[in-house]
Amino acid sequence: MANIAQAAWEVAQAACPKHMAHGPCAGVADDGACEVPGFGSCPYTGEWPFPAAPAAAGRATPRAGTRPFILTDLPAAPLDAASLRAAARTLAGAADAFLLGDHGAERVQFPPSYRARILAGEGLAAWPGINCRDRNRVALEGELAACADAGVAGVHCVTGDHPALGHRPDATGVFDVDSTGLVALARAAGLPVSVAHAPAAPPVALRLPRLLTKVAAGADVVVVDHCGGAGPVHRAVDALRAAGFAGTVLACVPVATDAVSAGVLAGFAAGRLPHRYLERSRVDGIGAAVGLAREVLAHPGVDGVNLSGGSRAGNSLAMARDLAVIGRELRS
Ligand code: SF4
Repeated sequence: MANIAQAAWEVAQAACPKHMAHGPCAGVADDGACEVPGFGSCPYTGEWPFPAAPAAAGRATPRAGTRPFILTDLPAAPLDAASLRAAARTLAGAADAFLLGDHGAERVQFPPSYRARILAGEGLAAWPGINCRDRNRVALEGELAACADAGVAGVHCVTGDHPALGHRPDATGVFDVDSTGLVALARAAGLPVSVAHAPAAPPVALRLPRLLTKVAAGADVVVVDHCGGAGPVHRAVDALRAAGFAGTVLACVPVATDAVSAGVLAGFAAGRLPHRYLERSRVDGIGAAVGLAREVLAHPGVDGVNLSGGSRAGNSLAMARDLAVIGRELRS
């Protein structure tokens, strides 16, 4: 049975446009379709068991302290050092570390290590996102070494969207490794590593074993993606802790305080947010985020939150100001 499962898994990997070696990415649609338009069904949506699911995983890594760990997005215009510095000054003191992410409409960015260096110059600890789409294994190793040299607090390792999903479909997606392989490279570079967990993404039954494979590769921190509110987050964390994970767990808290940020969030998480979460004014949006953060933090297995605020170039500083208000409130 195990050999049949392994063989089916290898067929799926060979068919996948991102060559996912350790199971499906989080882009599988609710109807089982691949995230790449026109590709058809994701080949990982079959019924076979996970071929190499660790029974339990998780080195005992330092948990957050007595107050919650706040990781916040740092919204800034792409390729704009002045915008990065302005966001850093706005968010200083509002979080423990600052996530430098990736967005489909803003694929071309300064390298993660350079952005981290700019933040370090402002006294902030960066937590850059690293993806497998834009760099091959050799370039990733160089980028991870540069991040370590820039003094990052950690790196967030993801496979990354297929280029067909962003504004640069002309680019070739590399996918030399997937997120699990990238975790191993980051650990070898001596960096603290976070990974994403998407408990609500189909095929739901494969999400926890896939996450445990990333943990076994060396992940210290799990960031639980939007999955419907505090209740679903708590259930996902219960399952993760029951599987033996002893590291740090952060829960994503969506932040939508204007039409732009609501539109960005709706673009990737509309079906996985609390009911009517996006239909709020700015002040209500701040209050909703603080309230949801406190709800998820009430669970003893949750160590902190990731404030996840969508932005575009035109509203990035306004979003940084709102994230700062939320972060300071949660830290007070
Ligand atoms: S949804 Fe993700 S894992 Fe599935 S085939 Fe497409 S790229 Fe591969």
